[in-house]
Amino acid sequence: MSLPGDRASARVVPPQEPGRAGHAGGEPGPDAGGGEIQRPRVRPAAGHGLGRRPLPPLSLYVHVPWCVRKCPYCDFNSHEPQGEVPEKDYLAALQADLEQALPFIWGRQVISVFIGGGTPSLLSAGAVDAMLASFRACLNLLPDAEITMEANPGTAEAGRFRDYAASGVTRLSLGIQSFDDDALRALGRIHDARQARAAIEMAQNAVEHVNLDLMYALPGQTLENSRRDLEQAMAFGTGHLSLYHLTLEPNTVFAKYPPPLPDDDLAAGMHEHIIEAAAARGWEQYEVSAYARPGHRCLHNQNYWTFGDYLGLGPGAHGKLSFHDRILRQARKRNPDSWMRNSLRRDGSHIAETHVVAPQELPFEFMLNALRLKDGVETGLFPAHTGLAFTAVLPPLRRLEERGLVTLAGGRLRTTETGWRYLNDVLQEFLDCGE
Ligand code: SF4
Repeated sequence: MSLPGDRASARVVPPQEPGRAGHAGGEPGPDAGGGEIQRPRVRPAAGHGLGRRPLPPLSLYVHVPWCVRKCPYCDFNSHEPQGEVPEKDYLAALQADLEQALPFIWGRQVISVFIGGGTPSLLSAGAVDAMLASFRACLNLLPDAEITMEANPGTAEAGRFRDYAASGVTRLSLGIQSFDDDALRALGRIHDARQARAAIEMAQNAVEHVNLDLMYALPGQTLENSRRDLEQAMAFGTGHLSLYHLTLEPNTVFAKYPPPLPDDDLAAGMHEHIIEAAAARGWEQYEVSAYARPGHRCLHNQNYWTFGDYLGLGPGAHGKLSFHDRILRQARKRNPDSWMRNSLRRDGSHIAETHVVAPQELPFEFMLNALRLKDGVETGLFPAHTGLAFTAVLPPLRRLEERGLVTLAGGRLRTTETGWRYLNDVLQEFLDCGE
């Protein structure tokens, strides 16, 4: 939540847990109304399933599950290590995980890699180098693939960032969250504002593409403080910002002992300011939480958002893989020790769950992410990436169009500004879209 090194719990579509509808944002919207909804029948596109069309682009997500200290708002699969990070065992288990996954992706090109967590920057430069060398040896990884690594400003070192880059990392994503020391303390972060600023400079000296994760609606935060955070973040001239609303997630310390948070009106004011200030400075909001300057959009996340494929390796990592006759979802065991132990057995016991996505689930899964994209998606992407005919989603789309929540024009499907505000309601239309 690019989401750890850092990310806020509010990040949508974390690679390890894709498709959490509760994170889709938006507020309770207008009454869905309109009487009884006529449910479309979901039919495969001509040629049956994904047929002989090319499969969607394939990305790789790698989960590194350790953090120096668990943040009180974090519901990600992150753990404080008992002693040193077991780097050697982790790499061996990762290699075993990768080799067991190869039959699922034979011959396919990998367009991007995202090393997330947890705090991947706890790994030594040597470990990251070995990991990437193994990916290149075992996978058909594009020579100029985008390779992102998350990093925590509290574990940043200039030399290490440069070494990561020398090993092939092209993009660093820093969990800044705020430049206000009081806010960082309230969030239980291990870094302060000075370390945040230093980490950004180190990252900019190491790689061309740098993302900063920031959060708003923080404990005790005022509108002025949130403005100042954004101004400071934009002043660095990095290419990408991810801005998340802090939310209280179940099973976190903050859920049990909630801090004093800005009310809804103040949080909405902060959000409005972010959108306006970013646009005024030439940042494109290309997804609900993602802002980029031209040429800096995150290819990896765009692949998630357009229902591309991804292989997920590491504890708790989720994957979505297409075949010509089905789409498979997999989840690895969440507990790092169990995942390592079981992966090394090489008997598939490191996989906690595998299921074929039912055709009636595909419209919602596709729309959950595609409708978050500001530019929308080409309508042809729906049949290409789901294997279903576009007519499967036409009735709900027409209803949403009549209500001014989406537009369908020039071969593109887009959410309107109002649709974005009521995204949860928009998505609701696709929940039972088929039978
Ligand atoms: S515990 Fe903190 S540093 Fe670790 S993943 Fe969660 S938010 Fe990021």
